[in-house]
Amino acid sequence: ADDTETPRITALDEATVQRIAAGEVVERPASVVKELVENAIDADASRVSVAVDRGGKDGIRVRDDGVGMTADELDLAVRDHHTSKIGDIGDLEAGVGTLGFRGEALAAIGAVSRLTVRSKPRGGEMGHELTVEGGDIGEPEPAGCPAGTVVEVAELFHNVPARRKFLKTDATEFDHVNTVVTQYALANPGVAVSLEHDDREVFATDGTGNLRSTVLSVYGREVAESMVDVEWSADEDDAPVHSVQGLVSHPETTRAGREYLSTFVNDRYVTASTLREAVLDAYGGQLAPDRYPFAVLFVELDPATVDVNVHPRKLEVRFDDEQGVRESVTEAVKEALLAEGLIRSSAPRG
Ligand code: ADP
Ligand code: MG
Repeated sequence: ADDTETPRITALDEATVQRIAAGEVVERPASVVKELVENAIDADASRVSVAVDRGGKDGIRVRDDGVGMTADELDLAVRDHHTSKIGDIGDLEAGVGTLGFRGEALAAIGAVSRLTVRSKPRGGEMGHELTVEGGDIGEPEPAGCPAGTVVEVAELFHNVPARRKFLKTDATEFDHVNTVVTQYALANPGVAVSLEHDDREVFATDGTGNLRSTVLSVYGREVAESMVDVEWSADEDDAPVHSVQGLVSHPETTRAGREYLSTFVNDRYVTASTLREAVLDAYGGQLAPDRYPFAVLFVELDPATVDVNVHPRKLEVRFDDEQGVRESVTEAVKEALLAEGLIRSSAPRG
């Protein structure tokens, strides 16, 4: 072999590495919104306002009244693998109480957009603003703002044309944004969550902590009034599911072709076919073909029996005891519907 020959293998430059990594976190406007809303909730906000333009393709703004950040914290927050949420692997293994902990979302968003973060700590005197453009981090500058944080994302994917091209219509992208914000609103009735699209209010929850009034804000009066309470607890301590609580709709309050089933496992929004089928099973033959009920269900179970890491950024979970979980959830929903006389006790399956 000739030593002078250029090797085929070279290190990628920093900007390329950054952009590839960013692509893993930020797929579309809705993924940006998800990360920013999670940060607001982790920051102990009681109010989170989301506004997007043209499905989020032309701009995303998330404002919260949470703990805020100092100028120094602002500078660290936008750097990759910087987080205030865990210190080391020990913390991670002990269990994380926050929605985020990887410390990569703001860095990733900043790598593929023009990101502006304005923040003032609670009780702080002065706010600051920092801009990141295509990964270049600016200096924090003093800025007037109320306590809390405002994050603005413009020109998403301006430097990743392939991604930009892959985005769907404004309506479709907004649909994804709406789904994300709706789930966080339902999961956090104690937080006033609002959503605006192209300067029009889509919904605003009251943050009073009442699930039914949150459902009313998100899905409207007809749905909210048809919802029945699910209040179920296991008899034994070692049952696969400890409790199931929330609301499910009357079998005739349904929508065609689209599902409005929100399931939360230990307060985290998840998708699991086991839970979905468990809910639908409970309705037995009461649902018209291709009609789906509304459900907002909080399932509590031993965290050690849930695998949330099917994929770190996907919402899908698996249970150690799929069958046991399924039966408990069906029982919980059935009990609620039966109590209101909405299904027959021997309702045929399927
Ligand atoms: P992670 O949420 O995994 O820690 P992020 O990149 O999303 O990573 O955020 C980095 C850090 O920036 C957070 O750990 C937090 O300290 C701070 N931060 C981000 N958003 C907010 C916010 N809305 N309010 C207060 N602090 C925030
Ligand atoms: Mg985060």
